Amino acid sequence: MDCPSGRGWNAFWIETWRTLPTLAGYYEFPRDASGAVFYRGLRPPEYVRALRNLAIARGVRSLDHSPALELLLRSDGSVAGARGVQRQAGNQAWTVRAAGTVLATGGCAFLSPLLGSRNNTGDGYLMAVEAGAEFSGMEFCSQHTIAAAGTSQTRSASYSFATFYDASGRELDSLRGLGEFRGLASALLEGPDYCTLARMPSDLRAALHRIRPAFQLPFERQGIDPFTDRFPVTLHGEGTIRGVGGLRIVNEDCETSVSGLFAVGDAATRAGGRRDIRRGQSEFRLGADFGRESETSDCSFSPARRATNCRGCPTRGRGGPARCKGRRRD
Ligand SMILES: Cc1cc2nc3c(=O)[nH]c(=O)nc-3n(C[C@H](O)[C@H](O)[C@H](O)COP(=O)(O)OP(=O)(O)OC[C@H]3O[C@@H](n4cnc5c(N)ncnc54)[C@H](O)[C@@H]3O)c2cc1C
Repeated sequence: MDCPSGRGWNAFWIETWRTLPTLAGYYEFPRDASGAVFYRGLRPPEYVRALRNLAIARGVRSLDHSPALELLLRSDGSVAGARGVQRQAGNQAWTVRAAGTVLATGGCAFLSPLLGSRNNTGDGYLMAVEAGAEFSGMEFCSQHTIAAAGTSQTRSASYSFATFYDASGRELDSLRGLGEFRGLASALLEGPDYCTLARMPSDLRAALHRIRPAFQLPFERQGIDPFTDRFPVTLHGEGTIRGVGGLRIVNEDCETSVSGLFAVGDAATRAGGRRDIRRGQSEFRLGADFGRESETSDCSFSPARRATNCRGCPTRGRGGPARCKGRRRD
């Protein structure tokens, strides 16, 4: 997919760099040796807290524990807001009518053992599909990443120093320095594989606690020294949450193919980046499965709420079973 603006996708990414300093006062940015503020390497929990505080300071009202359940449609098919429930208020219904609705609901990696992803059900995708939105780059969503077997610790950079062995102890030379773990996937089909990180330089090992605080935790809990012991490895599916497909973006405002509906972050496609360049243009119209037979008036439910199958659901009925089954009952 070409970048809708024609300026290239980098323009979107540079926007983050441009706006990051506006978080000053809410986030304690580190300084380099010369004392200059260092605008990168943000710590996620504090970053999210800073974003939230900035938004609240600018007058945004935040509804916590209040999942959106459906988008509202106008009779012309444009999105007019959303509706959901406040779980901490006895599931009291809320409705927000808006000129623009931004889906920032993340991607989909439902039931993936990937760190923090098991309950990432793809709610936003489902709501967008129901409204008729199109997706882009979803065929690149089969990326898997390495982890020590039995753990969800998928910070994978350290595995650039991995040496792999099969169950008989034979070194698997071809897997050294592996990038996309395809070789490892084939090897795992033959049986369990093991790894050590013995090739990691000592200065990096010493700094690992600081750079990747959680990386060594599962090893410590299991009494494994990853730099000397051989430990079993596995691959975890990543869904769409690490820089692959998502809702197709049609203009510089990050609007989707449905008027009034916008997508950001993991909910939006990143397929205009390197993967499309490598594999060529590719998109498909997941939303097309759902008819647009709506007899909706302003702010009614989206038409697919009455759909009787989940063919178009990005999770194909597996992601977000409660929601999908709920739709079937509707
Ligand atoms: C193991 C791992 C390591 C990563 N490492 C890095 C890294 O080093 N650097 C990097 O840049 N990125 C990294 N990423 C990717 C990064 O975490 C994501 O790109 C980023 O968190 C996406 O942010 P988001 O706000 O779009 O979505 P999310 O962080 O997924 O947030 C979506 C939010 O929407 C909420 N939500 C979902 N559905 C609804 C609904 N129906 N109603 C209301 N709320 C809803 C969810 O509860 C969630 O809070 C990593 C991801 C993983 C899994």
